[in-house]
Amino acid sequence: MADTAAHPVPDRHGQNLFSTDTELQRLLALYLPPDLLAHMQPHFERLGGLAGGLLDELAGTADRNPPTLAHRTRTGLDRQEIVKHPAYVQMERLALSEFGLAAISHRDETLGWKGKMPPLVKYVLTFLFVQAEFGLCCPVSMTDSLTRTLKKFGSPELVARFLPRLTTLDFDTLAQGAMFMTEQAAGSDIAATQTRATQDAAGQWRLTGDKWFCSNPDADFAMVLARPEGAPAGMKGVSLFLLPRTLEDGSANHYRIIRLKDKLGTRSMASGEIRLEGAVAYLVGEPGRGFVQMADMVNNSRLSNGVRAAGLMRRAVAEAEFIASERRAFGKRLADMPLMQRQLQKLRLPAEQARSMVFQTALALARSDGGDAAAYPLLRILTPLIKFRACRDARKVTGDAMEVRGGCGYIEEWADPRLVRDAHLGSIWEGTSNIVALDVIRAVTRENSLPALEAHFGALLAEAEIAPAFAAALRDALGRASALARQAAQEGGDLLARQAASALYHCCSAIAMAWEGARTGSAQRVQWAQGVLLHRVLPRDPLSADAVPAGWNTAS
Ligand SMILES: Cc1cc2nc3c(=O)[nH]c(=O)nc-3n(C[C@H](O)[C@H](O)[C@H](O)COP(=O)(O)OP(=O)(O)OC[C@H]3O[C@@H](n4cnc5c(N)ncnc54)[C@H](O)[C@@H]3O)c2cc1C
Repeated sequence: MADTAAHPVPDRHGQNLFSTDTELQRLLALYLPPDLLAHMQPHFERLGGLAGGLLDELAGTADRNPPTLAHRTRTGLDRQEIVKHPAYVQMERLALSEFGLAAISHRDETLGWKGKMPPLVKYVLTFLFVQAEFGLCCPVSMTDSLTRTLKKFGSPELVARFLPRLTTLDFDTLAQGAMFMTEQAAGSDIAATQTRATQDAAGQWRLTGDKWFCSNPDADFAMVLARPEGAPAGMKGVSLFLLPRTLEDGSANHYRIIRLKDKLGTRSMASGEIRLEGAVAYLVGEPGRGFVQMADMVNNSRLSNGVRAAGLMRRAVAEAEFIASERRAFGKRLADMPLMQRQLQKLRLPAEQARSMVFQTALALARSDGGDAAAYPLLRILTPLIKFRACRDARKVTGDAMEVRGGCGYIEEWADPRLVRDAHLGSIWEGTSNIVALDVIRAVTRENSLPALEAHFGALLAEAEIAPAFAAALRDALGRASALARQAAQEGGDLLARQAASALYHCCSAIAMAWEGARTGSAQRVQWAQGVLLHRVLPRDPLSADAVPAGWNTAS
């Protein structure tokens, strides 16, 4: 860290991103069982130290040295390779092997903990990792999600054959995953998928077609959507296939990476275009259920995107807070200036909302995967809610936090430009904002998710010891947000989808924050919950000064 007392330009590099995050520690004590928290403490500390130091340096290097595509070896053999910078490979080793971020949910022992880790631990590790490196989190999440989908829908034979490589922590033999779904004419509209699947004389499936966006294109396995010959048009004709990069005899499978995309963000990680030329693939699950099965993979990855957005915002806010406390102007610290305090407060609210929603969604996932049928409709709506709103908020928070660093914030030597570039992708891939907001409404109509959402957050509210007037305001707001979502779910209600999704997200996150604040004795967290309701939900008079309504701060 720079000697800020002697130097006027503050630099937070070298700080431990876990031990300096007291709010995270408070929340972990609330959400994790004490024995697991005690076990994980040194691992969180280690990753926090790396994310604030070495990982951040590696991420900067990998961002400035994007991967390239080599079509041939130097001896002229046609062998495609994505040439990755050593800094990226070092990050892969840390993420996939040392911390086991992709395998953690599928192994009986990771990081010395006997038994399965709850999803929350994976997401807290991801939350810390992504504060340094966003690009690699895509292959990590793809590998985790592909493994989950394979286990859920693949035949026992397929699972037995490929699972060991997807779950090992041995860096030299572990396999990575990807998802090749999008085509030129089929992005949001997956029903328009044109890639064809045919069976050869030996009964082996072969895929032919063009996939337009393929992140981690040299992955060992990819889940691919294709239309078997003779299948009906539309969604019902689409099936799911597992595509290996290498065939059993060690030769390359029959597909080519045509070129890599020149991207605004995630520059450390390759995204390419792929032409399938009779590629060998294995049918996963039932024919014609491709989209439904792929939706499980997409949802897992959407949740990861929400976690990543929360991490990006935390990094941006923590940088801004550090600068404000260290940088001086007009003879004062920036943090002592009222307008700066207001600016920081506006950054903190969405970042803390996302953090609360990560914890709540991770718990719902654990309950749902644990067989609690009532948790599924809750998880089904929380996932698109966090993907939609947190990813949108991350665009604004990272941009506004950049301004707190002044001119340096615009300079590529600092993390701010990378955060801004990366944050913009969250709202595009894995479903654009419109598509994901419509998915919130689909959860309302198809999974009847609203009663589960209202019951869960209503129960948190009943448990939270907060001022009755504030609790009543939160209850009323949640009721109105739910009514708006019901209206959006009616015929022709599409236009309300984004408004309803935002309203539900704000109300649920405010309730979760109030509950957390009351349970951990954090008056600050309760005040943030009030801020969310006042500034992001309730109507405001732009011509009057903000004030917390009378009665919101009296507990009885
Ligand atoms: C860097 C990067 C990496 C990617 N990696 C992968 C990958 O690994 N695998 C993969 O399969 N895909 C990947 N994608 C593709 C990504 O998921 C799609 O680009 C995205 O889903 C949008 O599809 P599209 O590009 O065809 O846009 P379109 O579907 O054409 O959408 C264009 C616009 O229309 C809007 N729109 C569409 N339908 C509706 C509607 N019903 N109502 C209102 N608005 C609507 C959208 O919101 C969007 O704003 C990646 C994309 C990027 C940028």
